[in-house]
Amino acid sequence: MIPGTKPQRIVIKIGSSSLTSRHGEISRKKLEKLTEQIVILKDAGYEIVLVSSGAVAAGYRKLGCLERPTSLPEKQAAASIGQGLLMESYSELFISHGYVAAQILITRSDFSDEVRYKNVRNTLNVLLERGIIPIVNENDTITIDRLKFGDNDTLSAKVAGLVDATQLIILSDIDGLYSADPVKNPKATLLERVNEITSEIETAAGGSSSSIGTGGMKSKIEAVKIAMASGILTFLGNASHKNIVVDAVIGNARGTYFKGNSPLSHLDQKKKWIAFHSGPEGEIIVHPTAKQWLLSKRQNLLPSGVVKVNGPFNKGSVIRITDTSGNEVGLGVVHFSSEELQPFLEESTQKMSDAPFIMDINNFVCHTDVLISI
Ligand code: GLU
Repeated sequence: MIPGTKPQRIVIKIGSSSLTSRHGEISRKKLEKLTEQIVILKDAGYEIVLVSSGAVAAGYRKLGCLERPTSLPEKQAAASIGQGLLMESYSELFISHGYVAAQILITRSDFSDEVRYKNVRNTLNVLLERGIIPIVNENDTITIDRLKFGDNDTLSAKVAGLVDATQLIILSDIDGLYSADPVKNPKATLLERVNEITSEIETAAGGSSSSIGTGGMKSKIEAVKIAMASGILTFLGNASHKNIVVDAVIGNARGTYFKGNSPLSHLDQKKKWIAFHSGPEGEIIVHPTAKQWLLSKRQNLLPSGVVKVNGPFNKGSVIRITDTSGNEVGLGVVHFSSEELQPFLEESTQKMSDAPFIMDINNFVCHTDVLISI
């Protein structure tokens, strides 16, 4: 790293099978291998966030289950045991190298709530600036109605966007993306560089999974799509390969590199949140002229531009703006609830010259800002 330059941030995601044994226990050897490589990167000046799965896998034996449980309450209980054990091991290993680890547990809804999103971001920034290694996992014990393999793939891509990472490294027991499923097709070849996720790539990714726990290629491609849209270079590779983490960072590893789209430095944090995390609540259909004003003239949305309101949504929510053919125009923060907006649909109000605007253009993100189906 060049002295005086801003340290590069890297998010490393590692799957359960790359951290635990087949018998539901943490593999000290696997953890040592991983932490030693992270220490090399830290010593070289990189800031690292580790997104670690393995809570369920590390905890189910101690819960008294012989195999990985399938019921949600048992998985959640196993995670509550395993998460503590994982953190204990990580802390011990990093401290032996002079580094401190911190635990961050997040749920999906933390990203869609703007205040919590900001809080997580602030916490991560402080930790990274102080040289600490944040270790992130989904808050499995309180995750409602799901907890499946692959959740952490998406989580890692969202975290990478949140901390403005330059690279995301997703490690599992798969070598990378193949032209077809390598288990079924011996002629499948490893794709080393991918610039765009095409429909062929999505088909090639299929939906494989292992018994210990990888999200399969499908969930990894979903994660890659999020990271690429955020302008982040992403690498998929096999955690068991020697020096894979360091090699992935220097661009020398066996696996698949996915080029990030153009960096989103033109988008402020608010717009990034609107585009990638907010989760729109409703919809406003706009006239063709209003669409044009939003997109090319960058003007606020006025009552005269509204054709229809599809609620319910609250004042201040993020809503989808669509055109009269049903195409998405973008996402924006609305100044009124869907109920408050109803009178605006009346002709007399629409014609008012001093009508308040419905959506501020500064809180609007369109497809030309972000190359993603947001
Ligand atoms: N959060 C889960 C765990 O730590 C794993 C989710 C995943 O494999 O993506 O066990």
